Order: sequence, then structure tokens, then C-alpha cells
Amino acid sequence: MADPRGFLDERERELPPRRPVPLRLMDFKEIYEPQDPKQLHRQASRCMDCGIPFCHQGCPLGNIIPEWNDLTYRGDMRGASERLHATNNFPEFTGRLCPAPCESSCVLGISQPAVTIKRIEQSIADEAAANGWLEAHPPQRLTGRTVAVVGSGPAGLAAAQQLTRAGHTVAVFERDDRIGGLMRYGIPDFKMEREVLDRRLAQMREEGTRFRPGVEIGRDIPWHDLRRRYDAVVIATGAPVGRELEVPGRELEGVHQAMPYLVQSNRAVAGDEVPEQIRADGKHVIVIGGGDTGSDCIGTAHRQGAASVTNIAIGRRPPEFRTPHEPWPMTPRVFEVQTSHEEGGERLFEASTIEFVGDDSGRVVELRLADTDFLPDGRRVPKAGTERSLPADLVLLSMGFTGPERETLDAQLGIEFTARGAIARGEDYATGTDGVFAAGDAGRGASLIVWAIAEGRAAAAAVDEYLLGRTSLPSPIPATAAAISL
Ligand SMILES: Cc1cc2nc3c(=O)[nH]c(=O)nc-3n(C[C@H](O)[C@H](O)[C@H](O)COP(=O)(O)OP(=O)(O)OC[C@H]3O[C@@H](n4cnc5c(N)ncnc54)[C@H](O)[C@@H]3O)c2cc1C
Ligand code: SF4
Repeated sequence: MADPRGFLDERERELPPRRPVPLRLMDFKEIYEPQDPKQLHRQASRCMDCGIPFCHQGCPLGNIIPEWNDLTYRGDMRGASERLHATNNFPEFTGRLCPAPCESSCVLGISQPAVTIKRIEQSIADEAAANGWLEAHPPQRLTGRTVAVVGSGPAGLAAAQQLTRAGHTVAVFERDDRIGGLMRYGIPDFKMEREVLDRRLAQMREEGTRFRPGVEIGRDIPWHDLRRRYDAVVIATGAPVGRELEVPGRELEGVHQAMPYLVQSNRAVAGDEVPEQIRADGKHVIVIGGGDTGSDCIGTAHRQGAASVTNIAIGRRPPEFRTPHEPWPMTPRVFEVQTSHEEGGERLFEASTIEFVGDDSGRVVELRLADTDFLPDGRRVPKAGTERSLPADLVLLSMGFTGPERETLDAQLGIEFTARGAIARGEDYATGTDGVFAAGDAGRGASLIVWAIAEGRAAAAAVDEYLLGRTSLPSPIPATAAAISL
């Protein structure tokens, strides 16, 4: 602990500046500016290096947070980067995108605002990139074993990097034309610019990981053929199936699942031609559902010049602060104001959709809704007598995801699924099919990048052990422990 009085002298929690709203709505560039080194030093000094650092448990990766806070305070950014990379393959992703459950369990948070762990993490990662410290770590010798990783999101990439560095020959198959999973075509650039991802992919290529974009396993190559060709297979295909809203008018033009809308916008931002792109310009936009996907739709619609953006949620508005039911160090469910919410629009809670109303040409023009009635049996239905309408030219459904696509996995590989729709697997991430493992959203249901990286790392250790009978790769979490958290 570099400064024993740091948390007493620096009581204020300071985040790096965000670009002003009118300016950032003019482009898709990142919202946060780099952190001023003096501010970074002040913020790192607030870490108390607690006897029992609960932030370790809060972080699914088990990041050794007090150590890199201390190194940052001392100005040893290279040392901080090495500590950070010891437990996290991609801190530049989590430093930008993680909801930071570590900060909910920060001990300082009991009496003061928590340490700004996430943004310190980003500063360390960005400093490492700027100074060329992200050298490739190719293996010293090859094992002669081959692994196919299917899916190039954070889970697949983390598994691939660990296994490549362990000496296995790893190919990552991705059905999209570019590598990155939801970090490429789901999450907008204003949360993470793509050069951050490309930089890491360059490192992985140099280490020897082979990328095969534009190949859909199950269609271009059957799953059983892939299994025959490789000594082990990791399924990291995510949980892309969006939850539906079955109300009258769902078929109208202008009512879309959120993902096609976001994917098309991300493609356009990347410079691709997107014929008949779903756009929000001049439209009254309604986003149904919250979470990251909902707020990403809000931010995208504002940048496209929407006339209005309304976000409706069927549930109650979460409390402002932690309630006694979610005591420290739990991650509480509180009212969140994400950067997209700062940019405008209205948020309605306890709002239940009744139907979409169209015009003669079959386009949506109105959304009928009512207050939510919470029935004793747990159902949530529209409350009679409170019906009203909102103008709607574009409706985006963002009500979560039901799980991975199952058809070809089931038919070609005999993969089994849990009652909740995720791939069934054991403690060691192994499915019931010999040599086939599952990591990330495909195995735990739609979740977070930090969990995907943690699972990718742990699954890699399990695969290494399967192939060699032993492993020296770190295994942060067993699959069942991962499944019960967040
Ligand atoms: C819009 C949106 C915003 C989000 N924002 C955040 C955020 O800010 N912070 C956060 O922590 N989490 C966020 N999340 C969640 C996070 O992105 C996911 O939890 C994470 O990406 C899951 O990683 P994964 O590797 O398991 O799967 P994914 O990232 O979904 O990657 C799976 C990949 O597998 C590919 N694939 C699927 N089937 C096949 C096949 N048969 N053959 C070949 N390839 C295949 C897919 O094309 C995809 O590229 C967000 C999610 C969404 C949808
Ligand atoms: S990865 Fe997320 S939970 Fe872990 S230290 Fe970083 S911000 Fe915190």
C-alpha cells in the first residue's frame, strides 16, 4: 500500500471526462477521454490494500486489483500491466465495457464511493498498448495437438489465446465476416472503438492463433467432421436467440429485434455498404426492454438523428441505492444511468405493451400500452383503464436472449441442453460429447464480457488437461460456480 492515508486525503471518486453530449452525438467515437495522469495517481491512491480484498471475489477473473492499483500509484505502469494481464487476457475490453462488480464489493464502498477500479484498469491497458508492451507470447514448443474454437467473441478469444500460448495449434472459426463476436457487431463503437479489438487480434495472430472468418460450423463444416479433424473442440457460439414479444402487430414493418438494428449500424460505422439499413433518422423510436442492448439502441438512435427515443420497461424502476436485501459486498440491482441515457430520451417503467398499430401500408405508426398490473401469481399484464398510445415509427425489441442456437449442435454432435436452454456441461466445461467443451454465453446464458473471458480461460485449462493429462494454465472458476453468479 503506497499511501496509507490515500483514502482519507482523496475522498472524491473522479472518473475520466466524457465528451460533451452534443459533440459525441455527431459521431460514433468513444465517449470517455483518456484519464489525466494526476487524476489516475489520485484515484489509485484511494485503494486501501485491504487485508481481505473483497474486490477479488467481486471480479469473475479474480483480478489482483490492489496490486495493480499500488503499481499505478507508484507510476510503474509496465508492472501494473503485467499484473493485470496475469489474470485477464483482455483488460482493454473489460476496462471499457465491464459493469465492474468489483466496485460493488470494494471495501472503501462501505463508507465512501468505491475506488474507480474499472477506469484504472482501462488506463493501464491503454498505456500498455501505447507503449508497445503488448508483445506476442508465442509458445516455446508445440504439443502437436489441435483445437477448434467455434465463435470469436470474448470467450472464444480467451480460450484460443490460452491454448495457443500452451503450445496447441488453434483455429478459431467464425461465421461472421470479421472476428470479434458481439464486440465486433453487437456493442457500438461509442463504447469501444474497433481498433482496440484489432490491436489484440494482431497480437493473437503473431502468437500463432489462426482465424477462419466466414465459416459457419454446422452448415459449411458439419460439427462431427470438425470434431474428427481436431483433437478437441470448444463451443463458444454465444446466446444470440432474442426473446420475442408476441402481441398483435408484431409483423408490422418497422418492428425489429434489436440485434439486426445494431449489427447493421456497426457495419455502416465500419464502412460497409448496408442496403436498406434500418435507421432511426427523424423517427419516433421506441426501445422495449433495458440492459446493455437497450441502452446501445438508445445511443445509436440518438446518433442517427431520431425525432424522439422512448425506452419502456415492464418492471418497476429499480431503487436509487443498495437496499437491505442486497447488502455489501453483493452487486445490487440499482437504477442505472448509462452514457446513452445521459444523451436524451424518456424512460418509462411499469409500462406494458398491448399492441403495435399500423397504417394502410403495413408500417407501424403507434404503440398501445398500459400500466403494468403485477398479479399475485407473478404474471405481469396491462392494467385495465390505463391504456394509452405513443407515436412509433421504429420499434426495437430488446428483452434479453433465450440462449444458443441448438439445431445443428443437437443433430450433428448430440449436445444436450439445460432446462434454461444453455449447453449442458460439467464442472470442467466438458459437454457429454467426448472432447467437446462449452464456454461463455453458450454455456451460461446471456451474460457479460468479464464472465466470457473467465470461462474461456477456465475452459482452456480443462482442454489442456484433456489433451495432455495435466495443465499449468490457471483455471479461475469451475463451471457450476460460474453458472450461479450474475
Ligand atoms: C448489444 C449488446 C451489448 C452488450 N454490452 C455489454 C457490455 O457493455 N458489457 C458487457 O460486459 N457485456 C455486454 N454484452 C454482453 C456480452 O457482449 C456477451 O456476454 C459476450 O460477448 C459473450 O461472449 P461469447 O464469446 O460467449 O459470445 P459472443 O460474443 O456472442 O460470440 C459468439 C460468436 O460465435 C459466432 N457463432 C455462432 N454460431 C456459430 C457457428 N455455428 N459457427 C461459427 N461461428 C458461430 C457468432 O457469430 C459470434 O460471433 C452485450 C451484449 C449485447 C447483445
Ligand atoms: S474485469 Fe470487471 S470486475 Fe474485474 S476488475 Fe475489471 S472492472 Fe472489475
